[in-house]
Order: sequence, then C-alpha cells, then structure tokens
Amino acid sequence: MTTDIASIALPGGERIAKLGQGTWEMGERGSRKADEIAALREGVALGMTLVDTAEMYGDGATETLVGEALQGLREDVFLVSKVYPHNASRRGVERACEASLKRLNTDRLDLYLLHWRGGVPLEETVQGFEALVRAGKIRYWGVSNFDTEDMEELFEVPGGDACAINQILYNVARRGPEYDLLPWGSAHGMPLMAYSPVDHARLPRRSPLDDIASRHGVSIYQVALAWVLRQPNVCTIPKAGRVDHVRDNRAALDLVLSAEDHATLDAYFKPPRSKRPLEML
Ligand code: NAP
Repeated sequence: MTTDIASIALPGGERIAKLGQGTWEMGERGSRKADEIAALREGVALGMTLVDTAEMYGDGATETLVGEALQGLREDVFLVSKVYPHNASRRGVERACEASLKRLNTDRLDLYLLHWRGGVPLEETVQGFEALVRAGKIRYWGVSNFDTEDMEELFEVPGGDACAINQILYNVARRGPEYDLLPWGSAHGMPLMAYSPVDHARLPRRSPLDDIASRHGVSIYQVALAWVLRQPNVCTIPKAGRVDHVRDNRAALDLVLSAEDHATLDAYFKPPRSKRPLEML
C-alpha cells in the first residue's frame, strides 16, 4: 500500500489528503489509549495525514491524546481543531486556541474551525480567527455545521470569504447536502469535509450495502467510505480507534464502485429532491 494519497485543494491552492482521520471519543478511556495512538500513527504512515479534533472532545482529553500520538509526526500532519461557539468571541478564540495548542503540544494549528454556529456574531469570530492567522497560531480557519444560508451570511461578513472549508455531516445515509450545499461549495470553490462518513458506525443493517460489500469482498464501512470519496471537492475523516479499521479505511480509497453499485445505492438511499435542513451529530 502506498502512502501517496488522493488530495483536494483548499481555496488558496494548498492540497490536503482526501482521506483523513477523526478523533471524537478517543482519549476518553485509558484502556483504549495504546490502540488509539497506534491507530492514528498507522493512519499517518498510510498517508491519512489530515487529523481532525476539537476542544470539546473528551473535555480536552482527546487533544492531549492526539498531541501524544503525533509526537515526531507533527510536520507530516495537517492538524485541525475546533472552537466551541461559546468561546468564539474575538478574545475567546485566542484563549481557546492557546489551550488547544498546549494540549496538542504544538505551536500552530493548520486549520481552526468554528464547531457550530452560536450566539457570537460571525463578524467577531472572523476577526478573532484572522488575528490568530496574523499571530501565526493558525494557518487557515473554517466553519462546521454551516448550512447554505449560513455560508451565504458568512460570505457577507468582512473577510468571511477567507473561510477554507466547511465540515459537515455527510454520508450515504444522510444525503441532504447534495441538494444545495455541495453545489454551493462547487460554485464558490469551497471544499467540504464530510464527518461521520460511516454514520458513527450506525449504517443500516440489511441494506444494499451488504450485497455490494460482498461483491467487492470488502466491508460495508469500506463501501460507505468509497461512496463519500467519489465526490470531488470533498475530503473525509473517519474515526477508527483500531489499526485494522484504519487499514481497511485506507484501502477504501482504492475501491471503485461501479455504475450499477451507485444505481443500487441511489434506489435505496435516495438523493434529495428538495431542501433538507443540514443534520448534525
Ligand atoms: P464515523 O467516522 O462515521 O464512525 C466512527 C465509528 O465507526 C467508530 O465506532 C469506529 O470504530 C467505526 N469504524 C470506523 N472505521 C471502521 C471500519 N473500517 N470497520 C468497522 N468499523 C469502523 O463517525 P464519527 O467519529 O462521528 O465521525 C468522524 C469524525 O468526524 C469524528 O471523529 C470527528 O473528528 C468528526 N466529527 C465532527 C463533528 C462536527 O460537529 N464537526 C461531528 C461528528 C464528528 P473503532 O473506533 O472501534 O475503530
């Protein structure tokens, strides 16, 4: 297996791995720590160098674990963290970012996201993010759980169009963003980062995923990942706390679903024919 991996471009042109790694629920149980660290390190070794975390996860314990896992690998990784909406004021983002950097044991984030929209005016959050860019604490900023109207509002705010990415819930069982948010992203050169690409391990049992998986000799998780990965302008961050799951996920990048597979999936997981509000986990 090669560490060369498909990539997508951020609006500024820098390329990031199309397949990365999530970390939600890591670092919460001591008994899983060694497996989680091994999984993250294996993922980076396999080219899944996009690593997503958040100050919220494990009340900071996840960032601490990620910092430990990336020891000696930091320069190979495109590291993403997220700020709570209630910390997203001009000064709040500075404080939250400093705390995240400390836990992650690094001096900068590659990307810092507003976890979801809260009460702080977007203008103020953008100012806070831009100040962090100027200070060299973050390289890019973006948003998460922003629906199309939120993105439109963001682009109205001074500097709002410097947003680098929108991280959203998107997988074969939750296709709402295909109606308007994916097209909006393509029209505005705004990439999307699909979270929960295997639906938080709650993909439906007894669906066409089973037949397709057995036809290709893979798991339903790999089929679901290959399905998300087919979209241009979209990267994704499955979370896997086990080395074997990480290897399977990396292999999904090389799985090509046929036109027949897609037709079967479309018949069962129907594409949206009208606006569906963006879901979030
Ligand atoms: P997910 O990646 O869809 O699913 C993770 C679950 O699937 C885990 O239980 C994992 O098990 C299992 N899994 C992964 N690969 C597998 C494989 N090949 N075979 C069998 N099981 C497999 O769900 P997620 O963690 O919700 O989403 C991914 C990441 O997106 C998160 O970790 C987080 O970084 C981010 N996220 C962001 C938001 C947001 O609001 N911005 C919300 C949710 C998630 P093991 O751990 O046992 O391997």
